[in-house]
Amino acid sequence: MSQSKVLTHLCPNCGGPLLFDPKSQKFHCQYCLSTFTEEEVTAFEAKQEDKGIPEDKGIPEESVSEVPLEADTAESPIDDQVGLFVCPSCGAEIVTDATTASTFCYYCHNPVVLSERLSGKFLPEKVLPFQIEQKDAEKAFLDWVGKKKFVPKDFFDKKQIKQLQGVYFPYWVVGADLEGQLQARANRIRVWIVGDLEYTETKQYQVIREGKSTFQDLVKNALKKNEPEKMVGAVQPFDLSKAVSFKNQYLSGFLTEKRDIEYAEIKERVDSELRQYSEALMRDTIQGYTAVTSVQSQQNIKNLESDYVLLPLWLVTYRQKNSDKLFYYAMNGQTGKTAGILPVDKMKVVLVALLIFISVLILGVIVGWFVS
Ligand SMILES: [Zn+2]
Ligand SMILES: [Zn+2]
Repeated sequence: MSQSKVLTHLCPNCGGPLLFDPKSQKFHCQYCLSTFTEEEVTAFEAKQEDKGIPEDKGIPEESVSEVPLEADTAESPIDDQVGLFVCPSCGAEIVTDATTASTFCYYCHNPVVLSERLSGKFLPEKVLPFQIEQKDAEKAFLDWVGKKKFVPKDFFDKKQIKQLQGVYFPYWVVGADLEGQLQARANRIRVWIVGDLEYTETKQYQVIREGKSTFQDLVKNALKKNEPEKMVGAVQPFDLSKAVSFKNQYLSGFLTEKRDIEYAEIKERVDSELRQYSEALMRDTIQGYTAVTSVQSQQNIKNLESDYVLLPLWLVTYRQKNSDKLFYYAMNGQTGKTAGILPVDKMKVVLVALLIFISVLILGVIVGWFVS
């Protein structure tokens, strides 16, 4: 929990805090307005780190650029605690949840990355950088809320929009090959009539299917507090071909949650899901029969791979007055797909209902007037 474990990625030019810019996919300094590529930032930081290393260690240049992360990757006991960190910029203490891996300093608003929480066994394989920037996310949010008639006013006032946050959430991305076999009984019935006689022909078949299937990019939530919320699933899919090798610079300017669900905990569920998919593919090839019964299948999972990946979401959550119910708006930070559940202002609903009633009444009066 030492100070060195908290990082703010700094501008090589002026030392100001760097933020990741989704539009250019580069790192932007708000102070001197410079932009840098990931390679430039990494090379600069490696050089800085180098200055702190005694010369006789003689680390070759090539290997330095490969070590952007903390060197001591020993698993640390801080993982399941609420963390207290010291802001490298202003020295204030930052209190975080056990799963926070990047955030802003509450006092100086500098972006900070708690790099230790994303190292060792918690080092993500990949990160999918944000592609939609805050401005566009805000606009989309306003458009979306604007279309919903019964939303309470304070849900979409400016204060609420400030709460729109870019968050990297942790996921398991699973891929596997399956080899399977499926057996079933099937019959085909044919009925025809000759004169007074009705003929029924029943042909019985034993159906056998064998095959291989490959699955990739099955995305599974890896954060306990997201389990009850459907928002994370609702904005899928993500195009994971755009994911890049993890570098914690990408987190600069966003919130990041680290995983607290291990793959072992979901393995059984995922295995059975994969088997079901594979079985369904085989089952779908059995066609043209009147009935298919006693289906038996065996699906063996091979080459299972599970990658720990961080994926981007824009998020607003909202708790309605006098109620514990949580409402949310979520947007896929890559594709812009949105989902959400909005609160409903009952007064607005009543008013509209009343208006409709009144206009119906007026219409009724007019019609009545014409008829009489
Ligand atoms: Zn700068
Ligand atoms: Zn600070």
